[in-house]
Amino acid sequence: MKNLIKNFAYIIVVLFLLAAVLSFGNFDKEKPEETSINTLVTEIQNDEVQSIEIQKDIIAVTLKDESRAKQEIKKEYGQSFTELMDNLGVDPAKVGSIDVKVKKEDGFAFWATVLAPYLIPLLFIVGFIWFMSRQVQGVNNKAMGFGSSKAKEAKADEKSKKTFKDVAGAVEAKEELEEIVDFLKHPKKFADMGAKIPKGVLLMGSPGTGKTLLAKAVAGEAGVPFFHISGSEFVEMFVGVGASRVRDLFNKAKKTAPAIVFIDEIDAVGRKRGAGLGGSHDEREQTLNQILVEMDGFEPNLGVIVVAATNRPDVLDEALLRPGRFDRRVVISLPDINDREAILKVHAQGKPLADDVKLRTLAERTPGFSGADLENLLNEAAILAVRKNKKKINEELVRESIDKVLLGPEKRSRVMSEKDKEMTAYHEAGHAIVGHFLPNCDPVRKVSIIGRGMAGGYTLSMPDSDKHYQRIAQFKDDMAMMMGGYVAERMIYGLDQLTTGPSSDLKKATQLAKKMVMQYGMSEELGPRVYGENEEMIFLAQEIHDKKNYSEKTAETIDSEINKLLAHARETAERVLIDRRTEMERLVKELMVRETVEQEAFKLIMDGETEQEDKK
Ligand code: ADP
Ligand code: MG
Ligand code: ZN
Repeated sequence: MKNLIKNFAYIIVVLFLLAAVLSFGNFDKEKPEETSINTLVTEIQNDEVQSIEIQKDIIAVTLKDESRAKQEIKKEYGQSFTELMDNLGVDPAKVGSIDVKVKKEDGFAFWATVLAPYLIPLLFIVGFIWFMSRQVQGVNNKAMGFGSSKAKEAKADEKSKKTFKDVAGAVEAKEELEEIVDFLKHPKKFADMGAKIPKGVLLMGSPGTGKTLLAKAVAGEAGVPFFHISGSEFVEMFVGVGASRVRDLFNKAKKTAPAIVFIDEIDAVGRKRGAGLGGSHDEREQTLNQILVEMDGFEPNLGVIVVAATNRPDVLDEALLRPGRFDRRVVISLPDINDREAILKVHAQGKPLADDVKLRTLAERTPGFSGADLENLLNEAAILAVRKNKKKINEELVRESIDKVLLGPEKRSRVMSEKDKEMTAYHEAGHAIVGHFLPNCDPVRKVSIIGRGMAGGYTLSMPDSDKHYQRIAQFKDDMAMMMGGYVAERMIYGLDQLTTGPSSDLKKATQLAKKMVMQYGMSEELGPRVYGENEEMIFLAQEIHDKKNYSEKTAETIDSEINKLLAHARETAERVLIDRRTEMERLVKELMVRETVEQEAFKLIMDGETEQEDKK
């Protein structure tokens, strides 16, 4: 709406300017004196007139007496001057002695004055309609060129150019891509050997692991143009647009070969065909087909390599993965501790770190963080440092940012009643105590009753080192820890006082139990089989579309197995909390005073050594 008003204002300004320019054409530099035709007749008869200029319906009179101003008379339009003089009975000889010039009506001004009254409103209306239609199209305001691809060719300017040096860690991935760089640099070498250069490379990895970054680095290393388009950009408003964009994209790339075509988030178009329901999937299929056609269409040694990225390789259409298309796959995994340290080093550049910040320790403390998370973490710390007027980024700020990246910003301002505060304390203490005393849970790093993001309070636990597999025992203990909050609330306040607080914990626990039974084959009764094909065809309809590929009888067993796991988790949590009631009470007391308890303090409390210092 704001836009509309702005555009409107523009039109009006332009029209004003136009009108002003047009009317200027009709103004003389010095405004002549307007007189009547009778005056002119008298002047002519008295021989006072030097010359006359006639333009359209204006008679401009220059008098012999130079001290007198020029005169201007309006005559009827289309009437000839001599005729007029004749009619008024002026002596033709006298008229003849005057220098009469009839000026041609000059083209533009003439037409402008004639047409302007019609043209201006028309322009106005057309302009208005145009802007209105732009508004209606909203997102798709690139209406004019919707068939052409919006692929951006990354400028080869040195600043934004990425190389493998910018990518920390990811050694295996870089090694594989090294080869691609070689293909792009020396296509001939491979052609001479009769080798076919692969057409497609698929980068697979969790979000934020640096897939886009790596693709750019490949282009940078090889020094070739880089055409970047995101899968979701294909799927826009008009049917058939995606396909034509693909065509256009490949044409551009072929012209500048060697080049890289980078299709980011290819799962947006490359999902299994014929699986979705209604709506846009036709469009997706067309786009996907076009990608396949284009990839088959170009010569293998042309030097165009398609790099695609996805974090959902499992949903991709098989046709994309068959040989001759994306037959190179590069898996980019979450960074391990060494990689994390290296990534932190890259992003710590230009950020003044205090001496107490050790990147190695930071890397230890951030298992499961992706490259993007780590970058974000340091950035948050830098922002916090500015906000708190610190000269350097210190340990405390870094800790704070870890929590912020993990859980969202603190909600210190939310006022909690003493009663709610106590209940949150019991809830979180429930999680923490169960997590601390069960052998297979990750160590508790922090317990807090200050809300963060969606959570009212939080208990942070994190493994000491990177984990590659999860074991049943850990799942069971984790599930008990999830139940800890619920169990504690129920134990202290009774069923009547139970709140909505634990609902998300229960959901998480239920989902975990469901996965254990249905996907991981972790149920004794049901054995090693995957139940249901939950393809998540369409994000929102996911639940509905869990394809049921088992009998009703099995469904009952699944249900009862899930319930068994959950009941077991609850019992475990109850047992721990009854056994460790004293520890729980101690922790709640601390939380009520300090609101947040860090790992070291937490351990001391568990060991019974309540810290008496620094109570605020
Ligand atoms: P993806 O495409 O896998 O979701 P991106 O390539 O967009 O992830 O990564 C996001 C950001 O995270 C990058 O711009 C980069 O700054 C940072 N990043 C990720 N992985 C690395 C890495 N290995 N080394 C350095 N920075 C990284
Ligand atoms: Mg990306
Ligand atoms: Zn909870």
